Amino acid sequence: MSLQTASTAPVSHRGHCRCGAVVMVAHAVPNISVYCHCDDCRRSCGAPVIASVGFPKDAVEWGTDETLMRYCNGTATRLFCGKCGSPVAQEHDSAADTTFFNTGFMDRPNDFPPTAHTFAGRRLDWLELHDGLPRVEKTILIKTE
Ligand SMILES: [Zn+2]
Ligand SMILES: [Zn+2]
Repeated sequence: MSLQTASTAPVSHRGHCRCGAVVMVAHAVPNISVYCHCDDCRRSCGAPVIASVGFPKDAVEWGTDETLMRYCNGTATRLFCGKCGSPVAQEHDSAADTTFFNTGFMDRPNDFPPTAHTFAGRRLDWLELHDGLPRVEKTILIKTE
C-alpha cells in the first residue's frame, strides 16, 4: 500500500507492559488522546485519572497475545497483561474501529498530550487541573492531528 502524503516516513508507535510480555506497534497516527475521569477507568487502573491514546484497530500489530487478558463489564473491554497486571488498553462497542491504549503503556507517552478531559464532572475533588483543556461530560473523539 502506498499513500501520497506530505511525509513518506513510516509512522509507528510502540508500547509494552511492565514485564514486556505484551508488546504492540501501531502503524498509524493516533485519532484521539484524552483524559478520562470516569469511575470505570479509575477503578480499572487504580489511578485518579487515566490518559488514553487511540489508534485504528486495523493498524495495531500485537507482538504476542499469550498473556493478554480481557475483562468486559458491559460498557468497555479492558485489556491487561495477565503476567504483570499492567493495564494495556480498552475497547468500546461505540468506537469499534479504535483501540484505546493507556498512554502510560506507550514507549513514548510524551508524544501523545491529551486534548480534553472526558467525564470531567467525575474528577476527584483533590485533583486540581489548570491545563485549560476542554472538559466534557461524556466520551468524545477528538482528532489529534
Ligand atoms: Zn506484562
Ligand atoms: Zn473512562
